[in-house]
Amino acid sequence: MLVNTSHPGNIGASARAMKNMGLSNLALVDPEDFPSGVAVGRAASAIDIIESAQIFDSLEAAIADCSLVIGTSARSRKIPWPMLSPEQTAAKVLAEIDRNKVALVFGREDAGLNNDELQLCHYHVQIPTNENYSSLNLAAAVMVISYELRKAFAAESDNSEVKEDGFWDQEKATGEQVEHFYNHLERVMVAIDFHDPENPRQLMQRMRRLFSRIRIDVMEMNILRGILTNIELRIKNKQK
Ligand code: SAH
Repeated sequence: MLVNTSHPGNIGASARAMKNMGLSNLALVDPEDFPSGVAVGRAASAIDIIESAQIFDSLEAAIADCSLVIGTSARSRKIPWPMLSPEQTAAKVLAEIDRNKVALVFGREDAGLNNDELQLCHYHVQIPTNENYSSLNLAAAVMVISYELRKAFAAESDNSEVKEDGFWDQEKATGEQVEHFYNHLERVMVAIDFHDPENPRQLMQRMRRLFSRIRIDVMEMNILRGILTNIELRIKNKQK
């Protein structure tokens, strides 16, 4: 997924990198200049990827049906977040791809992904670089990650996580399900006077980071939603 790309040439070059490495599903979030002849030109023989690219208004909409979201970032952000190396990213994707839809998210050429977008991700991945100049061209970053995926798929890496995930009895919750949960949780925390939206501190960010780390499954999510609903019912009954 490419978020708010300004230069269509980068979209074309990213599509080319993906096709070289055997990937095909490109999603564009609010691209500034697309469709574009420049993108087609830079895509070379990867025009099929450009033509079948899905377009979304927001990252939240683009990841609605994904249950593993990995965001790329050239630098560390304010709140520390679970980090993966490019190799670990590839191992994770390989371990989950049969069961869960995975998104790899790339940011704007000038400013990368913003904090809200980074908080929609379960993990962040940083490509190791010269520390004095860490920002790669967008399509070059797509190439590095795609190459790692290619290598991992070729090696059919057999780490313990592959096995563990294979035995899991439930699917992981999708982005959309998790967003409904956060809204519900926030509503209940306000209703019980635990959370003051006027003075939020970093409560919701910390809740997001907590549940991102856990990678909650659909059954666990339904249990938590059920608990929240009962809390709301109790409050309502008390008020009568
Ligand atoms: N100044 C921006 C850099 C944007 S570069 C920032 O600080 O994030 C455009 C995009 O390329 C980034 O959003 C990211 O998706 C990718 N990218 C560039 N360099 C990267 C790196 N070292 N590691 C991971 N992704 C990188």
